[in-house]
Parts: sequence; C-alpha cells; structure tokens
Amino acid sequence: MAGASAVPVPASHLDAARDAEPATRAANAAMAAPLPFSDVADFEAAKRGLIAPVPAGMVRTAGGTVLWNLGEYAFIDGELAPATVNPSLWRMARLNMANGLFKVTDRLYQLRGFDISNMTVIEGASGLVLIDPLTTAEVSRAALEHYFAHRPKKPVVAVIYTHSHIDHYGGVRGVVDEADVKAGKVAVIAPAGFMEAVSGENVLAGPPMMRRAQFQFGSMLPRGPRGQVDAGLGKGVARGTPGLIAPTRTIAQPVEEHTIDGVRIVFQLAPETEAPAEMHMFYPRLGVLNMAENACPLLHNFIPLRGAVARDPRIWAKYIGEAIDLYGPGTEILIGQHHWPVWGRAAAVDYLEAQRDLYKHIHDQTLRYMNKGWRPAEIAETIDLPPALAGRWSVRGYYGTVNHNVKAVYQRYLSWYDANPCNLHPLPPAPAAAKFVEYMGGAAAVIARARADFARGEFRWVAQVMKEVVYAQPDNSEARALCADALEQMGYQAESATWRNAFLYGAQELRHGVFQIPARATMGADTLAGLATDVFFDLMAIRLDPAKAAGQSMVLNWHFTDRSEKLALTLKHCTLSHRMGQWSEQAAASITTARATLDAIVLRRTTAPEAMAAGDLRIEGDASKFALLFGMLEQPAGFMFDVLTPGEGR
Ligand SMILES: [Zn+2]
Repeated sequence: MAGASAVPVPASHLDAARDAEPATRAANAAMAAPLPFSDVADFEAAKRGLIAPVPAGMVRTAGGTVLWNLGEYAFIDGELAPATVNPSLWRMARLNMANGLFKVTDRLYQLRGFDISNMTVIEGASGLVLIDPLTTAEVSRAALEHYFAHRPKKPVVAVIYTHSHIDHYGGVRGVVDEADVKAGKVAVIAPAGFMEAVSGENVLAGPPMMRRAQFQFGSMLPRGPRGQVDAGLGKGVARGTPGLIAPTRTIAQPVEEHTIDGVRIVFQLAPETEAPAEMHMFYPRLGVLNMAENACPLLHNFIPLRGAVARDPRIWAKYIGEAIDLYGPGTEILIGQHHWPVWGRAAAVDYLEAQRDLYKHIHDQTLRYMNKGWRPAEIAETIDLPPALAGRWSVRGYYGTVNHNVKAVYQRYLSWYDANPCNLHPLPPAPAAAKFVEYMGGAAAVIARARADFARGEFRWVAQVMKEVVYAQPDNSEARALCADALEQMGYQAESATWRNAFLYGAQELRHGVFQIPARATMGADTLAGLATDVFFDLMAIRLDPAKAAGQSMVLNWHFTDRSEKLALTLKHCTLSHRMGQWSEQAAASITTARATLDAIVLRRTTAPEAMAAGDLRIEGDASKFALLFGMLEQPAGFMFDVLTPGEGR
C-alpha cells in the first residue's frame, strides 16, 4: 500500500449519496443467502486475549490533531447490514473493529486497530522485539505506549520488518531512536531486497500510486453506511508522519534461524509474493507461526487497485505450502500482520491449505482458460471459487477479488493486450468517446436509454456507457450524475472493500469534483535518503522535459563524498543515462558534494548556490551546466489528476 496521510472530505458529501436501489437489495440478499453467517468463530478469535482497547479509540498528535479515530465507525454496531453495504463486507467491517492490546500467548502480544496493520511484540530476555511498526511514527508510538500501560516497560532491542510495504515499516521512528540503531543497541532486521523493493515499488511511479490508493482505501470518503466502512485489511491507513530506518541486518538465506534477545526465530524468505521482499517467521518455543501478509483471512491482491507490478500467485502458493511443511507440525497459533490469529494446529494447517489453494486455483484456472484463447474479461466473468473454498469466510474477496486477480494473471503472462488487432491501436479515450456518443445518436439519446437500464438494475452497463458520455462531454451534469448513481449502486453491492471504495470515490468525484488537497512532497526525506544513488538518478531521468533538453548534450561527473560513490551522467537524445562507478574525461563539469546535500536541494531545503557558498558543493569545469541540467527537470506537480474525466490537454 502507499499514501499515508490525507485530508478528510466533508461529511456533507454523504448528503448526495442515494439509497440502495431494489436491484441492489436483491443482489445483496442473493449473495448472502448461501454464506455461513451462523459460523461466528472469527468473532471469538478476533476478541480472544483482549487486554484493553485502543484508548478512546483514537490517536492524536501532541497538538490535538486526530490521526486515527475508530469513533468514526460507531455506526458499525449491529449484525444486520444496511441495504447500502454488502452483507459479507459488513461482517468484515465488524470484525475489523476489534482493537487494542491482545495477549496471543505468553511473551507474544499484538496491537491491533491502531492502524490498518498489526504491531506484534515479543518479550525477549532483556527487552522487546517489535514486528512491523505500523505506518506512521505517531500511531506506532501510541501503540507502544498502550502496551507499556499494561506490560513491564522494557527497551526495544530489535525491530523486524516483515516486508517492504509502508504499513509495515513507516512508523519505525515512533518506537526507536535512530541513534540507538547506529550505536548498535537496536537491530533492524528485514528480508533480502527490502530497500530495493521500497524504492522500486513506490518511487518511480509514486504520484499515480498515491492517487490510485485514494480509490483503493477510500481515505477521502466520509465514513458511513453510504461511505467508507472498511479497507479489507483493516479500517484504513493511519495519518501522521511516515519514515524509514534502513535495516542493519538482512535475512538472505531461504531459511535462517537466529536467536534475538533469547527468542528463537526461524525466518522463511518468501520473495515475489504479496511484496517483492517478504518473509514469514516461526517462533519454535512459542509455537507461533507468523505469515506476515501472505495468509490474511481474505483473498489478497495479485495487483492492488493502486497499481503494482503483477505478483506471482504460483510462487505465493508455493511458499505457503513450504510453510505448512516446515512449521505446520510445530504450530499451535497462526498470526499475521493484519487481522486476528487462528488457534490450534489442525485449524491453522487447514486454514493455510485453503489459502494455498485459493491462490493456486485462481492462477491455474486462469491459465486453463487462457490456453483456450479466452480474453481477460471473459475469464474473469467465468471463474469462481469452487464451493469448498467459496463457503469459507477466510478466502472471501474482502480486499482482492477473483475478477481483478484473474486479469492480473493474464497481465503477468500475456500483458494487457488480448491479441485482437482491433484492440491494438484504438483511439484514445476522449476522441473515442466523442465518436461513440455521436454514433449512438448524441448524449441525450444515450442518457435516456441508460436511465431505463438503471431502472432495470443494469448498473455495470450504465457506468460503462456513461463513461463514454462523460469523456465526450465532461461538463454534462446529467451524464455525470447518472454515472455516479450507477457506480454508487455497484459500491453498495461490492463484497470487496477496495472495490466499494473505488466505486464510491468515483461517484463522489463525479458529483463534487476532484478535491484539491494542498501540494506536498510525495516522497519523504527518509525515503529519498534510502534511495540508492543509482535509483536517485533514475528518478532524475524521469523528470527530464525533452522540450527543454532539445539540442543539448553534456556529460557531468558526480562524486558523493558521504557514500564514496562516483558516476558519470550523460544527456543525449533528450534522455539522461548514468553509469555508476564511471568518471568521464570528457565531462563538461565535475561535481563534488554529499548525497545528503543533493537530497536537500531536491527537497528544496537548500539551493545549489547556498550549498556552494557553504562549501558543501563544489563544481570544477563549466559550472553553468549544473543549473542548465536542473532547469530541464520538471518539478513534481500535484498528484490529484483527473481520473473520471479526460483531464487537461487530452
Ligand atoms: Zn500490510
């Protein structure tokens, strides 16, 4: 996931939300009918071991700003789902209200409901081993304080990041002091490839991922029966200050055992699964298996709606199978870094087998149909889970969906292109929409027919066809309103929290426009500092404006004294490329500075002339080239792009 903070949108936006249509009520009742609602084991599991709930259900800054507020979800109180919420999603929305400090077993505790993810605490011989310090410093600090209010206050001796997603490392500065890490008092442990994955997944394509994440998590939707009710993995992502402290120790072997502060931990690497760098852990003396985020009680994403490189469900299933073999016999309790535990060896193994087969089944059946020549949308419409899986709560699509995951499998193997040459070079969305609407007899005629389809409950089609009218005529308020109404009904029917959020947020933007939040850096100082210099220059390269670089060419040498790194940067063909470790004799200029200084210039905390005056930056040769180069780089703009309408210049 990505995108840690957001500005709430006024609750008055809910006033425009409509009630459930009869077709939505019928669809929700029909989907609920075969589901085992009398099985309430998860509700007992989610509450088991509760010591004390999140104080006042809230986390605030010292200044009083509310960063996390479970009170917004007070409307989630009864068993019966409102007509505007899918009944299965309502069940998960209730389960994800379980919050506080939980005792899982002797020496192992979990803080849940302080954020979307869990922080796990293991009590070692002299101090605490913390696993996954949430998304922001403020919430992880509050969670640790809550633990200390009920357990002996001991120092944190190690932090373990299970994987490279921000809800599992971003709050690290709330629970440890970087000076203690540097002094060797606190170990920071992560799977191999962690830092590369952190920069690889979220940096180069950071702005659209943040924008798309708003749709996935519904962070800017008001909470309520007609708004955001859940995010699948938890209630939502906490606001506050994310950060990063680089690992001091990396787990590199497929299986590695370490004793950390007297706690035996067997690490099992599971790369290229839910995250590019991820690992499971088994604590033999505690009988606890920690599956990180690879076996949550739901169907996860092969590609999240925020966007990512397509994940590999075949490998994912393989690592779950390996965990069953290696640790199943010794497991008494299964935990994850989201949601609640599974108690008992047989139940844990049974649960993991269902997870393994869930991912494998969707992968295998998608390929089965692909090999017959079926197209993504056709396969997605056909495949469903077999009854033996579909009847289990722990594999339902509260986060990912079978439909979207099928398309991810297709994309992974065959790309977005379905091989029909008519789809190879179509007109782009806006001009195509103008033609469609013209051929269909004009906007008024299309809207009139779509209204009749809306009355019949054909919401998918209404959204599909209204998209064309809105793209042809972005200011057509009737088309926008009808499109919003259709998306909203789809949201009310969605079992997946992320689909609901996307549909409802789409409706909100059609009705109220794009909410312009103040421009801010999409990348924090910690993330920038954590970027390898190689990736840093990739980031510079994607900001080059070719129009400004036209006719220019140059070579610049760089020497970063704080990292003992040298490189040669070449501008040619309106393209920047660089070679690490090279030093060109033909360079127009050679720049000697610290990466930290260059980071500060990029973050606009200083300027090149200021850094030169302070002696932090030295240029030999033609100093004008430095300013010339930076003048060709685009400053990152705001990321509140148009999504539901074509946007400027298109
Ligand atoms: Zn997570």
